[in-house]
Amino acid sequence: MFDWLIVGAGFAGSVLAERIASQRNESVLLIDRRNHVGGNAYDCYDEAGILIHRYGPHIFHTNSQAIADYLSQFTAWRPYEHRVLSRVDGKLLPIPINLDTINRLYDLELTSEELEAFFAARRETVEQVATAEDVVVSTVGRELYEKFFRFYTTKQWGRDPSQLSKSVTARVPTRLNRDDRYFGDVFQNMPAGGYTRMFQRMLDNPRISVMLQTDYRTIRPQIPHRRLIYTGPVDEFFDFRLGILPYRSLRFRHVTLDRETFQPVAVVNYPQDEDYTRITEYKHLTGQKHQRTSLSYEYPSDVGDPYYPVPCAENETLYKRYEMLARGLRDVWLVGRLATYRYYNMDQVVGQALATFARIQKTVPVGTPASTGLAEAAE
Ligand code: FAD
Ligand code: UDP
Repeated sequence: MFDWLIVGAGFAGSVLAERIASQRNESVLLIDRRNHVGGNAYDCYDEAGILIHRYGPHIFHTNSQAIADYLSQFTAWRPYEHRVLSRVDGKLLPIPINLDTINRLYDLELTSEELEAFFAARRETVEQVATAEDVVVSTVGRELYEKFFRFYTTKQWGRDPSQLSKSVTARVPTRLNRDDRYFGDVFQNMPAGGYTRMFQRMLDNPRISVMLQTDYRTIRPQIPHRRLIYTGPVDEFFDFRLGILPYRSLRFRHVTLDRETFQPVAVVNYPQDEDYTRITEYKHLTGQKHQRTSLSYEYPSDVGDPYYPVPCAENETLYKRYEMLARGLRDVWLVGRLATYRYYNMDQVVGQALATFARIQKTVPVGTPASTGLAEAAE
């Protein structure tokens, strides 16, 4: 009998396994249906010996010193500030849109003040900014929206930006200065030995047992446990009983080239013609020296592993109904990007997991039996 069964060895499941084992001295069985820990942040060496991220580029950034300090127990860091270029009208331009983006796109020499006037003359008045389209057209106008956002967003999400919540494009700011960093956070670093190494250190505790290639749906009745933490898709947990909650997937095409570098920065976005959204060249992220280089192309898809909740009003409504079901369970916690249907970055998932642990500490005294056995979703 394990004290805790944790489903999913990504950030949410691994942080909680680490906290429970190290702070409560309780036993944890951590399972994942994949053949590795780390969830979508998993990295590994490919056949050429180049460190790649199997599920697309993961750049760690946070404004929370507490979250950075927590993870720093398990990794050293490599300073890295993420820069992205966008291929628009045959040019490679900085994204987020900044002063250089506009000057180079239109062959201008605007100052920051002039750029403000440039946007003011183009932005559309939107009564209530509600959608992913509204955010962009009300900031930089329709032409830049069409060039940089409309098609990329349609490819990425399989729906028009007007059908997505504003939170989607609000992730990408607009700048009047020449700051070309993708993120503005105070702490921007990559784990020095990679993400997987960091996860291995986190889980290196005799009270944590890890079982891979193990699906909760198949082992559910067989593994005795007192309490459950679940970090997979919430609709699947409830056997889709309220309907399917859409998650967007990606197909990755990983390639290795016989040349030292391919593109000037880690990520180049393709918002116009291609059917992939972006190309990542991993050596920029990791700092690895190698004569060859490995890339990944991302093709968004409706089928495949769930990667992104799709933020829009109808999905939020359905999620809320699942959330009500989850609230009714005893001794079960749903945590993470898939289980709480939130478009969270890694640091936000770590924060959510640490907050969940704090709640567990307050409400579940160490060593107490579960209330009445498990309140299972299937019951
Ligand atoms: P996950 O990492 O998805 O882990 C959930 C785990 O549960 C998975 O391993 C899954 O196999 C397992 N699982 C699910 N169901 C079952 C089951 N029934 N039985 C057993 N196991 C199960 N964030 C950033 O901060 N910076 C970035 O640059 C960044 N880039 C990203 C790029 C891409 C392409 C994607 C998809 C995400 C990116 N993210 C980034 C977000 C980041 O991946 C997530 O915030 C984080 O990985 C979520 O952790 P999680 O534990 O909630 O979920
Ligand atoms: N986006 C876009 N063009 C870009 C970059 C982003 O249209 O060049 C939109 C797109 O809808 C994307 C969202 O902004 O899904 C958030 O971008 P981010 O880079 O944060 O996406 P992620 O890294 O999470 O895939």
